[in-house]
Amino acid sequence: MIVVMKAGAKPSEIEAVKEELIQLGLSVDESRGAAQTVLGVVGDAGLVDKERMAIRPGVERVVRVQEPFKRANRKFHPDDTIVKAGSLEVGGKALAVMAGPCSVESEEQVTAIAKAVKAAGASALRGGAFKPRTSPYAFQGMGIEGIRLLVEAKKATGLPIVSEMMSPHHLELFEDLVDVIQIGARNMQNFDLLKEVGASGKPVLLKRGLSSTIEEWLMSAEYIMAQGDSKVILCERGIRTFETYTRNTLDLSAIPVVKRLSHLPVIVDPSHASGQAALVEPLAMAAIAAGADGLIIEVHNNPACALCDGAQSINPDQFASLMERLSAVASVMGRTL
Ligand code: PEP
Ligand code: MN
Repeated sequence: MIVVMKAGAKPSEIEAVKEELIQLGLSVDESRGAAQTVLGVVGDAGLVDKERMAIRPGVERVVRVQEPFKRANRKFHPDDTIVKAGSLEVGGKALAVMAGPCSVESEEQVTAIAKAVKAAGASALRGGAFKPRTSPYAFQGMGIEGIRLLVEAKKATGLPIVSEMMSPHHLELFEDLVDVIQIGARNMQNFDLLKEVGASGKPVLLKRGLSSTIEEWLMSAEYIMAQGDSKVILCERGIRTFETYTRNTLDLSAIPVVKRLSHLPVIVDPSHASGQAALVEPLAMAAIAAGADGLIIEVHNNPACALCDGAQSINPDQFASLMERLSAVASVMGRTL
């Protein structure tokens, strides 16, 4: 349920309504927009006498929210949310482009890539240290050492770092050293992990599950937000379909759908969506044209020798030319790069 306050509602009227709701044992999320304040109510809305609430001083209307996601719902928070992590801002006018290797492999590799993507205009460095591989025999990532090397690359470039956390055991490490905690597609419904990252209050990049519906994806965001963390960035990375030519099928329509349903920023991963370096640029352009707030792209200085996801990795020159071409699409969309 939401209680929409009148444009000129007095702070004391807003407080009185909040107090009444809290007295009923409900929790209230206040969203102060430029024009109006919206009070989002989580809990058993049946406890509220809707007619009486609607005529309280300062109240414009009371609306039931049918969707199961509440805090992630745009009705709770009509304005776009901008997620900030150091110098990175996702969801504002400027597009956010996170770029870097699938996996951290060595100090030289990650630092060289970080410098190159920074020079081309990237806003954050991505890099996996803990890798969710389909095969237990495949390279599993450098682990803690990989996080340490990301920190070195951050020192060299100033780029905030985005890295995937697979286990709640690593929360302290990520809290201290990583700017944005990535929850991978395979862990989108690992609810214990979602609760842990939510309680940490860190910015979270939540990938869409391999076969998850948009509602399931938003419910996973809700798990994080239910712990009080509103800093969630959604990432569409392709879903499983009958098509096998591409690694996954990029669900471009998810972008405008989620933008309508939710206030959270949405970015796109054209690398995992396609599995092919040659498709990264066209999908990146399409994503921005469809309204995405940014991208996360795999860039490797030697894709042929990458320990993970080389086929979909572009090199730094290709990334620089993609960024150049992207700026034209960005300006058509009223965005900057
Ligand atoms: C990744 O970003 O390297 C990754 C494993 O992505 P996803 O969880 O989308 O497969
Ligand atoms: Mn990868």
